[in-house]
Order: sequence, then structure tokens, then C-alpha cells
Amino acid sequence: MTESASACCACGACCVTYRVTLPRIELDTAPGGRVPAGLTEPYTPTTACMREHPDIPGRCIALAGEVGVAVTCTIYPQRPSACSEFAPLSAIGIGDEACDEARRRHCISPLGGG
Ligand code: SF4
Ligand code: SF4
Repeated sequence: MTESASACCACGACCVTYRVTLPRIELDTAPGGRVPAGLTEPYTPTTACMREHPDIPGRCIALAGEVGVAVTCTIYPQRPSACSEFAPLSAIGIGDEACDEARRRHCISPLGGG
């Protein structure tokens, strides 16, 4: 999920499709880090990944709301770089391959290439 724009606020498909990994230096336990470490789990010796919702496999623990209707990232200002860099033009209604694929998997019309 990228900027807090209407397309993403009514979607959230990427947050239930792709597992987000991040370098451990982004965790709030590292100097200058911001991502809440408690919402992550170890992935490799140098990376972590966002935890999944306990009842919904594949859904990021930080996502609130109903996919395809209204969602929000509960750690938006602290989200991993992989999230803020994902489909950067979705904020203006332009998707990319990964964004469009996530939307298709959840029966949401792809944004397309603009
Ligand atoms: S799949 Fe695309 S439109 Fe949907 S939340 Fe992610 S970046 Fe936004
Ligand atoms: S941290 Fe936020 S933007 Fe990133 S996958 Fe989870 S809910 Fe989506």
C-alpha cells in the first residue's frame, strides 16, 4: 500500500497478497528504525517480515478494515520501505504489474498503467 489515496483506501489487496520483508535496520529496536518490531518476526539473520493476522493467513497484521471496501494501515507513518515504495503511482490511480495482480486476485479491477 502506498500513499493514503482513494484507490488504496478502498483496496488493501497488496497487504493480503504479498509477504512484506524488511531489513532489520528498519525496526524500531534499531537506531533510527521505525517499524514496530512487535508486529514482525525474524525472516533471515538480517531481515524480518510482517506478521500475519492470526486468523487470516497472508493478511498483514497491521491492516485494518475490509479488503476492497475500506482499509487502513494502522502503522502507516511507520510502515516498511517496501510498503511505501510499492506501486508508487497508485496514489494517482496508476497501478503496476504487482498492484494489478494483487487486485485481480481479490476480484478488484486493476488500476492499469494509466
Ligand atoms: S494493490 Fe495497489 S491500489 Fe491496492 S492497496 Fe496496494 S498499491 Fe494500493
Ligand atoms: S505494513 Fe501496512 S502497508 Fe505494509 S503490508 Fe502491512 S498493512 Fe499493508
